[in-house]
Amino acid sequence: MSSYTPIKDIDQKLDIIDHVNQDHPEEVLAIANSYQTSSHKILAAKVLDIFEEGVNIEVQRPHDTDQVFAPFQIKGELEDQILYLAYAAIVKEGRDVSGNGKHFFEVTKKENITQNIVRISVTSATPLPEYYPAYAYAFLLKTMPAIPMSQQNNPQGKSWGKKLFDRLFIWLMKHLSPKNREKLLQSANKDVRLYTLRKSWQDEETEPSVNHGYIDIFTHGNTAGSQWANSLAINDVIMSRSESADKHKHLESGQALLIADETAYPALAGILEKWQNPLQPHVILFSSCPAEQAYFEKDCVVLPEGQVHQLICPPQQQAEQALEIIQTLTSVDVVWAACEAQAAKEIRHYIRNERKIEGKKNHTKAYWSLKTKRKG
Ligand SMILES: Cc1cc2nc3c(=O)[nH]c(=O)nc-3n(C[C@H](O)[C@H](O)[C@H](O)COP(=O)(O)OP(=O)(O)OC[C@H]3O[C@@H](n4cnc5c(N)ncnc54)[C@H](O)[C@@H]3O)c2cc1C
Repeated sequence: MSSYTPIKDIDQKLDIIDHVNQDHPEEVLAIANSYQTSSHKILAAKVLDIFEEGVNIEVQRPHDTDQVFAPFQIKGELEDQILYLAYAAIVKEGRDVSGNGKHFFEVTKKENITQNIVRISVTSATPLPEYYPAYAYAFLLKTMPAIPMSQQNNPQGKSWGKKLFDRLFIWLMKHLSPKNREKLLQSANKDVRLYTLRKSWQDEETEPSVNHGYIDIFTHGNTAGSQWANSLAINDVIMSRSESADKHKHLESGQALLIADETAYPALAGILEKWQNPLQPHVILFSSCPAEQAYFEKDCVVLPEGQVHQLICPPQQQAEQALEIIQTLTSVDVVWAACEAQAAKEIRHYIRNERKIEGKKNHTKAYWSLKTKRKG
């Protein structure tokens, strides 16, 4: 690999490697499949390194481990280059670039759980994931009159129109200037917002059994997501275009540190509910307004006694305030955090560079950005 040009900004490179390995294993697998020369099936793939020219991926086959190099096909930011490789590989496989399928929900109840967090209770005709902590849906910001559930899925697979659209999208991504590509991505994701499945359960007493879920939305001003949440009414049908799980195996042992702002309270509540580590975690909770800190009590989630730091501050101060606390913690082995993008970046870098915690044990994510840049 030494013939390739190293990336100068090592922190940026490691951020991207950690992000794609933690959150996009399917896309990495699609890229590896697209560039492998062997006919043996790839079981798992992870990005080992990124160079100016492309990505080096480690692949696991039934009987050996190998490396595959995927050369970049477009110019632009590193993240866009990898995103394009993934999109192109997925389209080549004949799958839908917008995600792994649609899911419909029916709204059954709406209530305020804190001053600004709205709980949407939903049911679904198809099962919801049993392991729900931090499981997220990309919701389309629209509501529909109820439609028969039997029409939710398209058993014929991707229509020719969708295939054509996906190919055109990939072609445009390749040929547009980085600035126009950014615009295209933004407009494709304009009416989509990610929200977590706070909890899921099945009501076995009914016949057929009903799949229930909660979605908790932090509303803040007149934003599209907040307006959508506030406009929802009972019996509305809402739809997600893709969904993604989150992994927490790394939190099962060692001293954990968990950090969340209002948007990540639902994910954190799920993680705490399923806590398996004998050591209680340190928890840092941000909120812009004190009222939101009542979320966990209202939701009957027990916070670890004596290890919770409640920080009331504007999003711009999240990093500074969190780092002040983290510096006082003598032992931290594993981290899960989700908050504003710049804060997440500063916290992730501190954990990586000062506390020497590697990416596998440092899942620090951006859930939203003060400088909104939507890539889906
Ligand atoms: C995996 C994942 C799971 C998520 N789960 C949840 C969840 O369960 N509940 C939840 O409420 N959010 C959740 N989010 C965050 C949510 O998707 C974003 O906050 C989203 O930007 C909200 O869209 P919007 O239309 O309200 O604002 P946007 O249209 O995205 O932005 C409009 C303006 O509002 C600002 N803004 C956006 N979010 C916030 C905020 N939280 N505080 C202050 N200003 C903000 C932006 O900087 C921008 O200026 C999740 C995000 C991810 C990535």
